[in-house]
Amino acid sequence: MAKEPIPYKIYLEENEMPTAWYNVRADMKNKPAPLLNPATGKPMTADELSAVFCRELVAQELNNDDRLIPIPTEIRDFYKMYRPSPLVRAYCLEKKLNTPAKIYYKFEGNNTSGSHKLNSAIAQAYYAREQGLKGVTTETGAGQWGTALSMACAYFGLDCKVYMVKVSYEQKPFRREVMRTYGASVTPSPSMETNVGRAINAQFPGTTGSLGCAISEAVEAATSREGYRYVLGSVLNQVLLHQSVIGLEAKAALDKYGIVPDVIIGCAGGGSNLGGLISPFMGEKLRGERDYRFVAVEPASCPSFTRGKFAYDFCDTGKVCPLAKMYTLGSNFIPAPNHAGGLRYHGMSSTLSQLYHDGYMEAISVPQTAVFEAAEYFARCEGILPAPESSHAIRAAIDEAVKCRETGKEETILFGLTGTGYFDMVAYEKYHDGKMEDYVPTDEELAKYAAELPKIG
Ligand SMILES: *Cc1c(COP(=O)(O)O)cnc(C)c1O
Repeated sequence: MAKEPIPYKIYLEENEMPTAWYNVRADMKNKPAPLLNPATGKPMTADELSAVFCRELVAQELNNDDRLIPIPTEIRDFYKMYRPSPLVRAYCLEKKLNTPAKIYYKFEGNNTSGSHKLNSAIAQAYYAREQGLKGVTTETGAGQWGTALSMACAYFGLDCKVYMVKVSYEQKPFRREVMRTYGASVTPSPSMETNVGRAINAQFPGTTGSLGCAISEAVEAATSREGYRYVLGSVLNQVLLHQSVIGLEAKAALDKYGIVPDVIIGCAGGGSNLGGLISPFMGEKLRGERDYRFVAVEPASCPSFTRGKFAYDFCDTGKVCPLAKMYTLGSNFIPAPNHAGGLRYHGMSSTLSQLYHDGYMEAISVPQTAVFEAAEYFARCEGILPAPESSHAIRAAIDEAVKCRETGKEETILFGLTGTGYFDMVAYEKYHDGKMEDYVPTDEELAKYAAELPKIG
C-alpha cells in the first residue's frame, strides 16, 4: 500500500480537499462544559450568544452532536487560493539530528497572514456576511489573527475593527500596516474609545494591555453598534471546528502513503491549531479505532495546561464575556513583560481542556530561550523562518526525535508548523543578542491569580 519514496512535500489534489469540517465533540463522551452567563450562572442560550456572535457561528458553538459540518462552497473556494497546505517530511532535520524518527510537519504559514488563523477568519467573515452584517470587531495580540480577519473581511466586503494589545501595536508597526492595507481600522488597547478601556486605563495607568482587555473592548464595540458582531480567533469550539481542516488534510495526505503517526505535537495558546490538527486523529482514539499520543506545548511563562486550574473562569479582563470551563491561570494573569514567544492567553479551549482532563492528551511547557534555539536550528536546516509560537512545537518535536536517537525507536512524529516569524524579528534580535531571559512564574504568583477565580460549581 505504501508508495516509495515518500516525497518531501505531500500535497492533496483539489478534489481530495475536505468538504466538511470534523466536529470532535460529537465523539466525546464527556462534552466540553457549556459557556455560562455570569449574571445567572446558567448555560448561555443561543439567543443570548447571538447578541455578541453571528447566528450560524452560535449554532456551531453549541453543536456537540453533528460529526461533520459541510464547508460552504464560497469558503472552499477561498481555501483553494492557499490550500491544501503542504505536509512536509523534514528530511534535513532528521539527518541533522541523526535520528531514526520520521518527522513530518503541516505548514500553515503559506498565506499573507502568515498563520493558520485564516482558516477560521474566512469562515467567520462568511457567516457574518450571510447574516447581512455591516462588520465585525475583534482583538489581536501578536497580530496574526487581526491580519487574517482583515483579509477575510476585505474578501467579503465587511468592515473590520481590530483592538490590538498596546504593546504589540507599538512593537509591531508593520503588522498594523498590513491590517490597514486590507482595510481594517486598528486601535491600540486599552483605548479611550470604550467604557471598559477607559476603566482599565484609570485602574492601571500606563498599562500596555493584554488580550483579555482587548477582548472586552472588542465585545463592547460590537454590542454597542448596530449591524456588528464580535469574532474570536482561538479558544472557542467553532474555531477548533474550522481548524479541523488542518488535521483532515494532514490525515488524508498521510493515508495516501500509508503513514501512521505515533505522536502528534502542537503549540497551544488558546488551542485552535492543536485542536484542529489532532481532531480527526483524536476522533479515532475516542472511538477506540486507533491509539495516538497527543502533546500540547505551551510556554513556561504562561502554563495554563501544566500549572493552571480546571475551572470556570472569565474569558476576558473586563468580565463582559461568558464564563468558560477550562484550564486557566486566572483572567487577571498577564505573562511577564519579557515574554516574547506568543501564546499568552490565560485560558485554553474548553474542548481540549476536557480531553486533557480525561487523559486523552499530554501537555508540557518549555522556556522561551529553548524555543528560540529550536527555531533557529529549524530555520537553518529546513529553510522556513518559524513563528515563535510554532517553535514551541518544533522544540518538542526535536526533543522527541533526540529521545528516539537514544532509544533507537523509529517513531513517526507529526507536528503543526503554524506560521512564519517575519514580524517577530525583535524577539529574534533579543535572542541573538543574548538578552532573552526565561521567566517562570512562582507558585505564589499563580496561587494569587487562582484565588481570584470566580466561585462557581
Ligand atoms: C495564534 C497563533 C498560535 C496560537 O493559537 P492557537 O489557537 O493555540 O492555535 C500559534 N501559532 C501561530 C503562528 C499563531 O498565529
